[in-house]
Amino acid sequence: MRKRLLCSAQISFDIEVKGPLLIKSGQESIHGPDMSPVVTYAIGEEAKPYIPGTSLKGVLRSHCERIVRTLLPEKTPVCLPYLFEAEHPERSCGKRLEKSELPTPELYRCSCMACKIFGSLAFRGRTFFTDGYAKGEVKTEVRDGVAIDRKTGGAATGAKYDLMVVIKGIFQTSLAIENFESWQLGLLALGLRDMEEERLPLGLGTSRGLGHVKAHIRHISLRYPFDYTGQKILGIEARATKQEKAQYGFGKAPEALDDILPPAQEDGVWNVYALDTEEKRKQLLSWSRRALQAYLPQDQWNQGLQPRVWRDGMPESSGGGR
Ligand SMILES: [Zn+2]
Repeated sequence: MRKRLLCSAQISFDIEVKGPLLIKSGQESIHGPDMSPVVTYAIGEEAKPYIPGTSLKGVLRSHCERIVRTLLPEKTPVCLPYLFEAEHPERSCGKRLEKSELPTPELYRCSCMACKIFGSLAFRGRTFFTDGYAKGEVKTEVRDGVAIDRKTGGAATGAKYDLMVVIKGIFQTSLAIENFESWQLGLLALGLRDMEEERLPLGLGTSRGLGHVKAHIRHISLRYPFDYTGQKILGIEARATKQEKAQYGFGKAPEALDDILPPAQEDGVWNVYALDTEEKRKQLLSWSRRALQAYLPQDQWNQGLQPRVWRDGMPESSGGGR
């Protein structure tokens, strides 16, 4: 589906540091995923901290997983790549599908909700985050610290580091999602909302109360090829061909969601819709809730979904549940 771009969304936002944000200075890395939440880059003589896009992606991913688990408590609707990789590889989309040599649409179809959006070892994902670079002044302090174990939140054995803490600063970043299903844009928008409301701590030491940040959304826009001029937000499930729908197993398009898009602006081959007023943002959140709600009962991932057999670029058998 990367050969065609039928819909995309861009969200630019700032991360404001509201409490000490833990930065590990130097290049040592503690093992485990995503353990270097904030590092520095040099401008001339000066080293400035930045927030890697992977950290933002990690935080938002965990939160989106939490939202889905909260809404589908009877099931395990997303995989748990780190927890279960060794004992239950079938619980990790990456491990289960990595070496399967299935075509991309099938990898997509067999991925859990989180991996469909954020990717796994097997599937690249649809969402891309840029690194967060400082806008204006950043205040930091260096502290003598003990490495924090990401899993336990306690001190990692014997490891001692110089830690740099950002105590003040604003970091500009953005995310984009391409060929999104409606529920995916919805889930991202709802996750970011919680970041705006300061509910998502970032970086190391969050169990000790560090990493208090607030997101400020600067700009949200949706982009469609110029053949689409409507006022409804349409996800890929409503834009793809019948064949593509069969290949990727997209969910059903949510019914009768409001027309919330403002008039489009032309930009080359694209129609761009900016959702930049308070009213449009509110409408987007309400749309997001309903798009996600419409999708949840359709999700097949936890129903023993099996990869299908493919022949000549199309699935031969239906696969399906148990
Ligand atoms: Zn997964």
